[in-house]
Amino acid sequence: AAKKTNRSSYVFYESVMSENATRKIEIEDLLRTAIHENRVRMVYQPQFDLKSETFVSAEALMRLEDQNGKLISPLVFIPIAEETGLIVELGYWAFRNVCKTYKAWQEMGISFESVSVNVSVVQLKQSDFIEEILSIIDETGIAPDKIELEITESILLDIDMANENIIDQLKFHGIKVALDDFGTGYSSLSYLRQLAINTLKIDKSFINNLSDSKKDRELVRQVIGLAHELGLKVVAEGVETEEQSQILSQFLCDSIQGFYYSKPIIEREIVSLMKKS
Ligand code: C2E
Ligand code: MG
Ligand code: MG
Ligand code: MG
Repeated sequence: AAKKTNRSSYVFYESVMSENATRKIEIEDLLRTAIHENRVRMVYQPQFDLKSETFVSAEALMRLEDQNGKLISPLVFIPIAEETGLIVELGYWAFRNVCKTYKAWQEMGISFESVSVNVSVVQLKQSDFIEEILSIIDETGIAPDKIELEITESILLDIDMANENIIDQLKFHGIKVALDDFGTGYSSLSYLRQLAINTLKIDKSFINNLSDSKKDRELVRQVIGLAHELGLKVVAEGVETEEQSQILSQFLCDSIQGFYYSKPIIEREIVSLMKKS
């Protein structure tokens, strides 16, 4: 509720509120027609394997353009897409798009180990989620083990145990699962043992101070060690410096994703990057 203690602050608060509400409705409108009007697309951020020193994978990230061609951050539009349920349609569109892109890359001789796609809890809650995903895999002809679905750690704790079953089902069909933003959701490593996940993505907030903070270094080193004991692959997110990359390499982190190696880029740029390396 708005504050009424003094008139000017009340007015200010109201105008900010209505501006946000208007912006939200604008974005919702954009989202409703985004696929039809070609305002949504996927970009890809390559993942660098520290052992082979090559790009072995890429994460697909959604971009939304407004009427003026300006890009809106997924941090803004994904929550609105989730609230309105529009994420379901956008999510299937994204998944189909990524499968097709992977196939096209394969035909050009670019064979990433896998390609990652983010999925929201709203998508996972659809009773026909697995069925739809399998049908898109079938339609596009991609091998299921070339796909990794990224589920954020906090989401996983939010949903009931029935969703563990979703992860088991994905595994059963050969689809990989990564736990995204690890470290932000307070799940214990022993909890991870119960989940049929393949990959742990260490959140950027633990990577930021790797060079300066002994505590963060120790934490990251231990997480990598324990994850490996559980048979998981570890990806570090948001690596921006050579020093961070070197520390992670010392800690035997498997792959690195971040601006140090590459920002998210369009399909065509992935092709040139892979042809060069
Ligand atoms: P995420 O899945 O954790 O993706 C990583 C985010 O970190 C991306 O932001 C990426 O551009 C950014 N990033 C990567 N390296 C660096 C770095 O070195 N420094 C900094 N500062 N940032 C870096 P982006 O693309 O803005 O996406 C934000 C979030 O939106 C994603 O976080 C994901 O949770 C969500 N999202 C994006 N695309 C989709 C999608 O297709 N479906 C769903 N459900 N969520 C998506
Ligand atoms: Mg992700
Ligand atoms: Mg993440
Ligand atoms: Mg995230």
